Amino acid sequence: MPYRAPVDDFTFLFDHVVGLDQVRATERFEEASSDVTAAILTEAGKMCEEVMAPLQRNGDLKPAHLENGVVRTSPGFAEGFKAIADGGWIGITADPEHGGMGLPMALNTAVNDMMSASCLALQLAPLMGQGQIEALEHHASDALKETYLPKLISGEWTGTMNLTEPQAGSDVGALSTKAEDNGDGSFSITGQKIYITWGDNDFAANVCHLVLARLPGAPAGTKGISLFLVPKYIPDADGNPGKANSLKVVSLEHKLGLHGSPTCVMQYDGAQGWLVGPEQGGMAAMFTMMNNARLGVGTQGVGIAEGAFQHALAYALDRKQGKTQGPTGSIVDHADVRRMLASMKADVFAARAIALSCAVAIDMHTATGAPEWKARAAFLTPIAKAFGTDVGIDVAQQGVQVHGGMGFIEETGAAQFCRDVRVTSIYEGTNGIQAMDLVARKMMDGGEAAHALIDAIEEQAEAARERFPRMGEAVWQASENLREATEWLVSQKDMEDRFAGAVPYLRAFARVLGGHLHLKAALADAVGGPREKLARFYIQRLLPEHEGLLVYAQAGAKALMALSADELAA
Ligand SMILES: Cc1cc2nc3c(=O)[nH]c(=O)nc-3n(C[C@H](O)[C@H](O)[C@H](O)COP(=O)(O)OP(=O)(O)OC[C@H]3O[C@@H](n4cnc5c(N)ncnc54)[C@H](O)[C@@H]3O)c2cc1C
Repeated sequence: MPYRAPVDDFTFLFDHVVGLDQVRATERFEEASSDVTAAILTEAGKMCEEVMAPLQRNGDLKPAHLENGVVRTSPGFAEGFKAIADGGWIGITADPEHGGMGLPMALNTAVNDMMSASCLALQLAPLMGQGQIEALEHHASDALKETYLPKLISGEWTGTMNLTEPQAGSDVGALSTKAEDNGDGSFSITGQKIYITWGDNDFAANVCHLVLARLPGAPAGTKGISLFLVPKYIPDADGNPGKANSLKVVSLEHKLGLHGSPTCVMQYDGAQGWLVGPEQGGMAAMFTMMNNARLGVGTQGVGIAEGAFQHALAYALDRKQGKTQGPTGSIVDHADVRRMLASMKADVFAARAIALSCAVAIDMHTATGAPEWKARAAFLTPIAKAFGTDVGIDVAQQGVQVHGGMGFIEETGAAQFCRDVRVTSIYEGTNGIQAMDLVARKMMDGGEAAHALIDAIEEQAEAARERFPRMGEAVWQASENLREATEWLVSQKDMEDRFAGAVPYLRAFARVLGGHLHLKAALADAVGGPREKLARFYIQRLLPEHEGLLVYAQAGAKALMALSADELAA
């Protein structure tokens, strides 16, 4: 089943739901006109349909493998990466001074969505590059920028991020990789990193690793961490790849999915690296990359959900089984199959609109520097990451169900979506960690950012009542429920009580945001149009989930922790 890039959906979302017009109205992003947007979506969509989607099965069936210490990538991936690079899709948001397009994150998010849907394993390579580019733009010295940025943006070189160690996963502060000052402006990096995505490949002239490490005497925990740029080949005086650095890929992981993406155990043995940002300022610098990657990973979930939905719909339109009351004679007219397909479509819309809203907030902060936009982007990032990936996993599972037995058979591709997307709720900060971030760090403002968003939802629901009294009322009531739960959370002094309800709270917030964004779409649609119908479906059937979630969110930790670890095991 070929992938169809949902270009019209992005255009509608940009024009009527997430407010790209306000981004375009800024001086910083005045280039992002409707024509430019249309050209980018069309061209990138074409590349995804024609070049990347045909590679999807290759990556699964012919995984990346290690050959004499070098990663050999899946057939066609080198050409696929070249097409991505040649299209300029790595550097959509990057600074034009170094070869980027300087366009909004919202556009980048749409392109990443389409690349993820068509071949997630390959899309991880440019995604890592994008994060590294942003981190270097913000934190690297001018000399590092000059040497690395043009090549990373053009795709001549690729980038990775190295945080995880065996004893330091979610707890990044437990890392033990060491850095020592060489006294010549460079540092020696020694240690082992695990699970490094695209830690090597056989198509880029250099692979540049951003590595977190600790300098001698640095304090324990995240405070003592510094960030280093460690290339596979050390650039010579002309900036070309020179002698090999003291690092290697020890092995590749055998994974549930994403077989085309090499996940490497990396060994650094006194490898030469250069400091990015100040000493012991590593986490702040790495957070630039991580925030970029968090939105990127949430978008991966959305993309996979789109791909899985398209597969399931095509199958349902074709498969005949049992008598239906509908005109097609195929399973699409069974009420339960329709339930699954409508849920999938409605959730893809909600998760995509949330991711794009987050991107717009990032763009507005970039363009204006306004603290409200910074707070909005920071608040939406964990929601976009966790909800986008949960939707990806859920929709991929439902996609298998729609296929019946054929969903369990690999040829249909439904199963691959499930396997590939599963890790997205784990990497780049597990979804549990995202939810804790939402109820802790993102509420250190006393809930101001949360309430500002709830105010906006409520205001719009109020205004929608005239045309859609029932939908307007449902979203308005949901925002009130969310406000109460937010007040409860903020008033809890024992963080354990907040954490116990963090995941249901995040999901409830996403559910309500989804209702708000669907309502906006309905308002922009013709009377009785398909977007209005989809909004009705979402608001009647999916939005009510938030009520139960908010009960759970406010239940506190006591009952949850009452069952001891021994009792769990009994
Ligand atoms: C395919 C793949 C690719 C990856 N790519 C990269 C990469 O490119 N670079 C990189 O650096 N890393 C990468 N990772 C690592 C990934 O980011 C980590 O796996 C992830 O952060 C979780 O760490 P962990 O696996 O050690 O799990 P753990 O931290 O051991 O977590 C286990 C469970 O405990 C929970 N948990 C842990 N701590 C807490 C807490 N304080 N409060 C509540 N719950 C908690 C977690 O949510 C999880 O459910 C990759 C992983 C995979 C599988």
